[in-house]
Amino acid sequence: MKAGEIAGVQEALERLGIAEINSGAGWGEWIERPRGGDLVSINPSDGSQIARVRMAAAEDYEEVVRHAAETFPRWRDYPAPKRGQIVREIGDELRRHKNDLGMLVSLEMGKVFSEGLGEVQEMIDIADFAVGLSRQLYGLTMPSERPSHRMYEQWHPLGLVGVITAFNFPVAVWSWNALIAAVCGDCVVWKPSSETPLVSIAVQKICDRVFARHGWKGVFNLVIGRGTDVGERLIADRRIPLISATGSCAMGYRVAEAVARRLGRNLLELGGNNGVIVMDDANLDLALRAVLFGAVGTAGQRCTTIRRLFLQKGIARRMTESLVAAYRQIRIGHALDPETLMGPLVNRAAVDEMMRGLERIREQGGEVLYGGNRLDLPGGCYVEPALVKAHPEMLMLREELFAPVLYLVEFDRLEQAIEWHNSVPQGLSSAMFTTSLISAETFLSAGGSDCGIANINIGTSGAEIGGAFGGEKETGGGRESGSDAWKAYMRRQTVTINWSNDLPLAQGVKFEL
Ligand code: NAD
Repeated sequence: MKAGEIAGVQEALERLGIAEINSGAGWGEWIERPRGGDLVSINPSDGSQIARVRMAAAEDYEEVVRHAAETFPRWRDYPAPKRGQIVREIGDELRRHKNDLGMLVSLEMGKVFSEGLGEVQEMIDIADFAVGLSRQLYGLTMPSERPSHRMYEQWHPLGLVGVITAFNFPVAVWSWNALIAAVCGDCVVWKPSSETPLVSIAVQKICDRVFARHGWKGVFNLVIGRGTDVGERLIADRRIPLISATGSCAMGYRVAEAVARRLGRNLLELGGNNGVIVMDDANLDLALRAVLFGAVGTAGQRCTTIRRLFLQKGIARRMTESLVAAYRQIRIGHALDPETLMGPLVNRAAVDEMMRGLERIREQGGEVLYGGNRLDLPGGCYVEPALVKAHPEMLMLREELFAPVLYLVEFDRLEQAIEWHNSVPQGLSSAMFTTSLISAETFLSAGGSDCGIANINIGTSGAEIGGAFGGEKETGGGRESGSDAWKAYMRRQTVTINWSNDLPLAQGVKFEL
């Protein structure tokens, strides 16, 4: 099935205004001919070309950031609840375009349509959250130790926020950052992944129309370009106090170094290596369904994908057999085919990477129980998901192989499973399946899972926007989305007001002539 043959795709691209050649640089107006060369957006489901994008060069980047910087002081001073109203309208437009955008996410990135729609729903949810937040950017009041003094803290907009996004959540992660940053009073410069340029242009166009209705340009800005032209410039740019970067740990090390060199702030959402522990007393039906979605959903290309499954000895065999039987039934195919459960990997390089990974797994003593083969389907990006019987010392278990490969490791005791679970460099998401309160609470205690996310009786992926999302260790320590993650996009100011005619010093210090 080719993109043009799927009902409605061409019309959707036209409705989104991205059917042919697109500019990859804009701030509310598009730079007509950005000078960074052409980028072709490829549909991994069949290898066809979807459309062409002109990338930004250094001078286009400059133009975009100049507009963003000029806009910031006015946006900063526009009342937060009014900023929230604009975000509310963006949410409404996203609702209106949910189908078209979801289809485009699937077309460009390869996740199945229902997950493409889910990604857009996540944008809508965060828009709603941000609207509420626009009236709740609260600061604390604290008692002063000095008489007739008042102390409180207030939160001011930070400035420009650089948002770098990964291919696998091409628009949702941008929205977690941008819609929250916008109500906080910041302007956003977005550098999306070169794998998914079109959907970012579509989102920018939707937002441009809403901002234009209110007379705004330059709040949301887009620069699609090469790492050397755009990425490196963005992270080194002293006009941008915060860089929020989502991607691999290797990228995070580079971003952290460049941002630290100028003492900027970063918010890093990097690779995961997520583990699930299934206890003997677990509801295995629940565990099986959750593991299937967590390991195979998005073709194993979620930061929260389940990669390591620790099975207690009493249920290990049963669970392994059930998994093999379930893996056999996974329907692999075009992302927009309603029958498909697992689409393609994002490109051929990702398939090669998975094959190399499986070779190393075998060298290290891993036994492939099911799958792991390249599939000869149009486009060349299809694989079978793999189940691997692994031993806990295998070095591959420490790496994030960004593909549908699930390691199965048997264990005896809970303490042993927790130790193995925590023995990897990454710390994003984790889960346990159990009906024992003691096991669950042990997993959630300070000595339990060392991850930013810990779940009981649900899988590691598919987080709701209401919680703060992010992970520890090499996952980078950042938190985005709900809870109080908004604080990362603002600067805190502690204020002390003396409403007396005396000048007492804190800590009882005397300093008088
Ligand atoms: P990637 O690291 O290859 O690229 C991510 C983004 O970083 C892209 O936009 C890329 O162009 C940009 N980039 C790379 N080098 C840069 C540089 N030197 N300066 C500026 N920008 C640079 O990652 P990917 O393959 O697109 O995505 C997959 C990875 O992202 C996985 O490791 C996955 O776990 C991770 N991820 C993490 C989260 C999270 O929230 N923790 C969410 C999604 C994806």
